[in-house]
Amino acid sequence: MNKKLIAGNWKMNLLPEAALKLISEIQPSSKCDVLVAPIYPVIPIISQSVEGKGIYLAAQNCHEMDKGAFTGEVPAIMLKAIGCSHVIIGHSERRSFYNETDTVILKKVDAALRNNLIPIICVGETLDQRDRGEAREVLDIQLIQLLGEIGAKYKEKEIIIAYEPVWAIGTGRIPTPDQIKDAHSHIRKICNDTIGEENNRTRILYGGSLNPSNADMILAIDDVDGGLIGGASLDAEKFNKIIEIAASLS
Ligand code: PEP
Repeated sequence: MNKKLIAGNWKMNLLPEAALKLISEIQPSSKCDVLVAPIYPVIPIISQSVEGKGIYLAAQNCHEMDKGAFTGEVPAIMLKAIGCSHVIIGHSERRSFYNETDTVILKKVDAALRNNLIPIICVGETLDQRDRGEAREVLDIQLIQLLGEIGAKYKEKEIIIAYEPVWAIGTGRIPTPDQIKDAHSHIRKICNDTIGEENNRTRILYGGSLNPSNADMILAIDDVDGGLIGGASLDAEKFNKIIEIAASLS
């Protein structure tokens, strides 16, 4: 069984002092992996502190190219150079506010992998899509071509998938256990069909209003290999509680 991964997406929050304070308060566990994804300028500021605590460091996005005339962008090669091991790609906020398409997301995942970063690829349906009964179809569209291409090109490399129903992000609403189970087993099947069954080390995280009061239930569901956490990752007490719950399930 994979060790669970508890990943905190800090989004556009926490100035350097607050970020350092939060890192100093996080209590990692040897029984699960822990990761934080700060805002770009904070990455080098906290890189030594996270390394000292065995916490993985991620960026929240990267550009698809390694260099060039792309004002304001940050390439994966730079993220690797400043201490990141992971990068979140295709978060629903990037898809909706910055019009990131599946084509762009595929290029970014390729950029991450060729620069030896582990991509955390976010997928998931909107409420309208769920209401129309299209949740599985959305996952097919977001993942089959992407995993087929990168699976063939980067056979040995680790990837992580985060199932994040858009309607559950930051809303306090969560899917039923059956809905989570169905989405995760469908993603597992897509992984098996595209990158091969031997690649069962691909971790599938759940994201969307995960907090200490629902973590027990969510993290115990089959094929839920951890969580991608927004709001609750900004609060050390809540984040530590989720880490503790994940560790107890290992
Ligand atoms: C997220 O933004 O990835 C997320 C899961 O946010 P929240 O936990 O706040 O719903």
